[in-house]
Parts: sequence; C-alpha cells; structure tokens
Amino acid sequence: MTAVHAPVGGPQLEQVRRLITEVPGPRSREIAQRRGAALPTGLTSAVGVYAAAAGGGVLLDVDGNSFIDFGSGIAVTTVGNSAPRVVERAREQLGKFTHTCFLATPYESYVEVAETLNRLTPGDHEKRTALFNTGSEAVENAVKYARAATGRPAVVTFDNAFHGRSLLTMSMTAKAAPYKAGFGPFAPEVYRAPMAYPYRWPSGPENAADEAFTAFRDLIDVQIGAGVVACVIVEPIQGEGGFIVPAPGFLARVADFCRERGIVFVADEVQAGIGRTGAWFASEHEGLVPDLVVTAKGLAGGLPLAAVTGRADIMDAAHAGGIGGTYSGNPAACEAALGVFETIEQDNLLERARVIGDIMTRHLREIAAEHPIVGEIRGRGAMVAVELVEPDSDTPNRDAVAAINRDCVQHGLLTLTAGTFGNVLRFLPPLSISDDLLDEGFEILRAAFAAL
Ligand SMILES: *Cc1c(COP(=O)(O)O)cnc(C)c1O
Repeated sequence: MTAVHAPVGGPQLEQVRRLITEVPGPRSREIAQRRGAALPTGLTSAVGVYAAAAGGGVLLDVDGNSFIDFGSGIAVTTVGNSAPRVVERAREQLGKFTHTCFLATPYESYVEVAETLNRLTPGDHEKRTALFNTGSEAVENAVKYARAATGRPAVVTFDNAFHGRSLLTMSMTAKAAPYKAGFGPFAPEVYRAPMAYPYRWPSGPENAADEAFTAFRDLIDVQIGAGVVACVIVEPIQGEGGFIVPAPGFLARVADFCRERGIVFVADEVQAGIGRTGAWFASEHEGLVPDLVVTAKGLAGGLPLAAVTGRADIMDAAHAGGIGGTYSGNPAACEAALGVFETIEQDNLLERARVIGDIMTRHLREIAAEHPIVGEIRGRGAMVAVELVEPDSDTPNRDAVAAINRDCVQHGLLTLTAGTFGNVLRFLPPLSISDDLLDEGFEILRAAFAAL
C-alpha cells in the first residue's frame, strides 16, 4: 500500500485540517473489519479512523485525512507527536541497545531521568525516583512505598478519582462503568473521601473546601483511624473525573492534615504533570509539596514510562529487590523522557501551555455565552474542559457531549470526553499546535454546539 501523503510524522507534517474521504474512510473501514475478527469487543477506540502519522497539531489517517488533534493521545504527546528531540534520542538509543533490564545491567539515562525529576518536582528536600512502565504501575508502587515506610495498610482516595486499571488502582478508581463493573472483588483497605468539587458541591462552591475537608478529616480520624492510614492519594486536577480543579485551599489542608498524622501525601500527576497545566506539576498551583509524586502520561512523549518521585526516607523504606520490573525504565523511553525535558525547557512550553489555555478559555467563553448547556468551563493551562448540563439545571448532559464529540470527528477535529457522569468535553492539545489550528478547532466545536 502506498501512503497518500508523506508517512513521516513530527512537525514537518503539513499543518492543515483536510478531509478527502468520508470519515472513517475506506482504508480505515477495511482495518476495522479485520479488527472485528481479531480483537475483543471490550477493547474500544474513541474514533474509527486509523492513524498513519502525527505531529505539530495534526493527525493524519490511513486515508490521507488530516485531523486537528485536541487529545494528544490522552495527555501523552504534550511536546507534540514524534517530537524531534524525543525521536532522535530514542532512535539513537535503539541502535545501541534496546534492553538490558535495569535490574540486571543498569544504564546512565535512567539515572539522568531520576536526577531530572528529583530536581523538577516540588520541594527542595532530598528525593529519589524509581521508574515504571505505566501510570497504574507507578501508582501501585507509590502505595507500596507508603506502606513500607509507614507499616500501615489503608489507602484513602477521592470521589471522581481515576488511578488506573490494575486490581489495586481499579479499586482506587471511583467509577464503576466502564472501569470496574464485573471485575471484582476489589483490593481491600481502599477508602474514599469526598472531593471539593466546586461546581457540584451541594451547599454551594463557597462551602466546598471547608465541608469536604471536614468530611475527609472525620473519615480518617473517626471511621478508619489515622493510625492505620498509609497514604492519601489525589489528582491535583482530576483528569478522567472531568478536569475538576479542587476548591482553593482544600488540597493544602489535606496535605497539612497528612503531615500531622504521619500519613504519606501522594499527588497522582499522571495526567496533569509534566508541563500540561503551565507549570511542571499541577501541585505547584496550590503550593503543594507532596511526599510522593507519580508521573507517566506526558513523561516520555509517547513511549511507555512512569515514575514515582519522593522523599528519600520514604523511597528508601522498601527493601532491596522489592521494587522493579522487567521493562521498567526502558532505555529508549528514558532517552525519550530526556528529550521531553529538553523540549519543554528549550521551547518554553510552560509559557506556551498558559497561552494555549487562555486561547481555549476565550473560545469556550464565547460558546458558553451562546449555549446555556455549558455548565462550567474549568482547568489550568492547556488542560481545559467544559461540563455540559441540561439548560437551566445542573443535570448532566451526556447526550450533548456524545453528539458534539461525534460531530467534531466528522469535521476533522479529535476531541475527548471525560467526567464521572460522562458529560465533560476535555481539551488537551499538544503544546506544539499552532494558534491557527487552535482557532480552527474551536470553530468546528462552535459549529458542533450550534448543530445540536
Ligand atoms: C491515565 C491515568 C492513570 C493510569 O495510567 P495508565 O498508564 O493508563 O496505567 C493513573 N492516574 C491518572 C490520573 C491518569 O490520568
């Protein structure tokens, strides 16, 4: 098969939206048919088009259609898809060795990734970093470190939380469908506290921080007993839950409470971390200094890599040989992560994330002014979402989100949904996208709202 357009990704890919077939096109439909016979039905994809190349702010499909990318492969290709420094470093590494297993024969790039994360994560205390493959795996290991350091079993998570799909992280996740239904029994010693979700706080957003904190405190002090709690883990901006920014001050009080009780405070920065919000870590916006920080998605530009970074005394509590994995900290993924750090630093992408956030928020405000189904616009930096409701109420409007999402794909814009109630559209463009493509993407979104 010959490609319709250059099959090479990265920024050299022509930065246009262009539909030359119906969506999905014939070639995508052909692959989908093979997929139907080869893959289980429970493994779904958000769109029916198959990728051929991606870069800058676009994704090219196998039929030659070029889509504007507002999803970054779910917050992964923050520096752009096939970003040059990521590709060059990974390619060079693949030509040297693909794997030795860090547990068997170590290599320098792993150490350099750890040094960099130790430097960049909040706080100037002594830190250590261990690498893993996925967000779920890193969250599991954060719990292992917290349990080893405290000798306590319990894990406290929050409403709307998403921490992964493995047994423990699925147990920590706050949404039955689709993540948990039918997959129990779940891991024990996982407790759930209310999240200070301003838009949906029953007595009003102004009370969210106080009342949620009181409930959180009582859960631990009264119901569980602080003496058995190993860690409290929270997404500083809840991703899958719908880009919920906790009420100001709530997380700082949670962190202080943990410090007073000897509970390890863990920030799950898997979705919000590594520059996405206009800071290296979303924790910084609230002045938080977590004991442990978990990163993954944006860390290696699309190669599988995840990390737990935290206080040396906690990280050193796990016994020798107790932590690791065959593929953890793969050398090409480590090189890719170093390429991500360079790209963010040298291309000034933290600033770019803030500018993109301002552009997105401006467009969304214009849409909200015309459409009473917009309940709330929220997020930080290039991590912005709208929550859709029935007009003049706060009843979640899942159907509108599904319809708009479909309409956008049909017109060449890739968007993602989220939300505990499935009624949130989330926008996570790569930071390499141009202003023109951003504006064009929001014109498509605006038309999709109008077409409802
Ligand atoms: C995606 C995600 C995870 C799980 O990461 P995987 O790599 O899919 O295992 C954990 N926490 C948060 C906040 C996430 O967004």
